[in-house]
Amino acid sequence: MSEIKFDVVVVGAGNAALCAALAAEENGAKVLVLERAGEDESGGNSRFTAGAMRVVYDGVDDLKALMPDLTNEEIANTDFGTYTQDQFYDDMARVTQFRADPDMVELLVTRSRETVRWMREKGVRFAPIWGRQAFLIDGKFKFWGGLTVETTGGGPGLVDALHESAKKRGIEIRYKTRATDLLFDGVTVSGVRVKHAGKIEEIKARSVVLAAGGFQGNYEWRTRYLGPGWELAKVRGTRFNTGDGIRMALDIGAMPYGNWSGCHAVGWERNAPEFGDLAVGDQFQKHSYPFAVMVNGEGKRFVDEGADFRNYTYAKYGRVILEQPGQFAWQIFDAKVAHLKRDEYNIRQITKATADSLEALAPQLDGVDPDAFLATMKAYNDAVQTDIPFDPNVKDGRRTEGLEIPKSNWANRLDTPPFEAYAVTCGITFTFGGVRINTNGQVLDTESEPIPGLFAAGELVGGIFYFNYPGGSGLTSGSVFGKIAGTGAAGS
Ligand SMILES: Cc1cc2nc3c(=O)[nH]c(=O)nc-3n(C[C@H](O)[C@H](O)[C@H](O)COP(=O)(O)OP(=O)(O)OC[C@H]3O[C@@H](n4cnc5c(N)ncnc54)[C@H](O)[C@@H]3O)c2cc1C
Repeated sequence: MSEIKFDVVVVGAGNAALCAALAAEENGAKVLVLERAGEDESGGNSRFTAGAMRVVYDGVDDLKALMPDLTNEEIANTDFGTYTQDQFYDDMARVTQFRADPDMVELLVTRSRETVRWMREKGVRFAPIWGRQAFLIDGKFKFWGGLTVETTGGGPGLVDALHESAKKRGIEIRYKTRATDLLFDGVTVSGVRVKHAGKIEEIKARSVVLAAGGFQGNYEWRTRYLGPGWELAKVRGTRFNTGDGIRMALDIGAMPYGNWSGCHAVGWERNAPEFGDLAVGDQFQKHSYPFAVMVNGEGKRFVDEGADFRNYTYAKYGRVILEQPGQFAWQIFDAKVAHLKRDEYNIRQITKATADSLEALAPQLDGVDPDAFLATMKAYNDAVQTDIPFDPNVKDGRRTEGLEIPKSNWANRLDTPPFEAYAVTCGITFTFGGVRINTNGQVLDTESEPIPGLFAAGELVGGIFYFNYPGGSGLTSGSVFGKIAGTGAAGS
C-alpha cells in the first residue's frame, strides 16, 4: 500500500464534485478527484443531463450577465419574465410539500445566481432554453416554469467544461478509481481507500468531499428503500451511482437524512436499456404528456396529465407509471397538438403506434384492453370544456368536467387524425435520501456533530428534495453545495 498526500480528495467527477474541486483549488488546496468510471463514461448523471439549471434572476440584466451573447433582437422577441428568490422558495416549498430543510433551501435559493456566475468564470457557458421552456406565440417567445438557462452543449458540454477547467488548474482526475472506504480513526477522516486496476491503495488527505451520487444504480438498495417494484425501473443515467458515498459515510456514523423512500423518476421509453445510453442522453424521456392523454394496460386514465406545468409534475409521474399494472403506460396525441411535442419524440429508439382513428389505434397499443381504452377516450372527449381557450404557455384551466380523474389544464378532445401513441415505463433519475450536512457542507454524525474532515454535496445529500422536484434544481443544488463543500474542505 502506498501513501500520497493531498489537501482535499473529491470522490466522484460529476457536477457537484467538480464544483467542489474547483472551489477547493481556488482556496489554495492541492486537490485530487477520484472517478469510478473510465474517462469516456465519466461525469456521472451530470453528463446525461440537458444542462437545465434553475437560477434566480430579477430581469433580463441578470440573464445578460450570465449570457452576454444575448442579442438585442433576441431580447426584444422574448418575454423572459423573472424568477425571483420568492418564486424559487415557493416552488421548493410547494413541490416538496413543505418538507425541504429550510437552511438548505435558503442556500440553494440565495446562492443560485452567484454560483452560476462563478461557474461562468470557471469556463462554463450558458444559453436560454429556447427549445424546451418557451413556446413561440404571436411572434414572441414566452418562458414559463422558472427554468430559463441551460449549459451550452447540455450535460456533456457542462462536464467537459468543468473537467477542462480542473485540468487547467492542475487538478488531477484519476479515472477507473473506485473509493471503497473512508480512512477514519474514530474521530477524524484522513483520506480514502480506493480500488484501481485490481489493487487497493490508501490516499491520505486533510479532507474528503463525497460527491459520488445517489443509489439509483443499485437494484437492491432501490428495492430496500424505495419499495417493492423499484428494481424494475430503468435507470436514466449512469450505472456508477450505486450508493458508495452514502455507504462509506454511514459506515463511520454519518446521519441518514431526507426522503429515503423518495426519488426523481419520470416517464421513459418502455424498451429503453437498463441504464442510460450516452448516445441518446435524456431523449428517452417523454415529457409532452400535459398535451396528451395517458392510459394504462386496463385502458384507463390514472393521473391528471395537466395538473401543472411539465417541470412541476414530471419528476413524480415516473412513480405513478411504475405503480400501473405491468409498469407501463401509453401517451396518446392527436394532430392538433403534434407541433407541441418535444424533440425527444423524434428519435429512432421509440415504441410508437399511429393510426387514422382511435378504433384502429386501440389494437396497436401493446398490453392495453382495447374496448376499455375506447370507452375511456369517449368519456374523456365528452368531458373536455371546449369553451375555455387552449394556451400552452399558461395554466389555461381548459379542463375536463365530471371525470373521476380530471385533466385540469390543456385538455383537448382527441378527434383529429393522425393519432400517435408512445409507450413509456418508469425511468429513475436519482434518489432523494442521503447524508446530513450543515451549512458549511460538513457531514454530520448521528449526534448532529460535524465529522472532522468529511464534506458532501450533490445527489448523496439528503433533506433537499421530497416527493417531487422543480426541474433544473439538481444541477443547481450540486453546484451550490459543491462550491460550499469545496470551500469548507480547503479551509479545514
Ligand atoms: C437523463 C437525465 C437528465 C437530467 N437532466 C437534468 C437537467 O437538465 N437539469 C438538472 O438540474 N438535473 C438533471 N438531471 C439530474 C442531475 O443529473 C443530477 O441531479 C446531478 O447531475 C447530480 O450531480 P452529482 O454530481 O451529485 O452526481 P453525478 O453527476 O452522478 O456524479 C457522481 C459521480 O460519482 C462517481 N462515483 C460513484 N461512485 C463512486 C466511487 N465509489 N468512487 C469514485 N467515484 C464514484 C460517478 O461515476 C460520477 O462521476 C438529469 C439526470 C438524468 C439522469
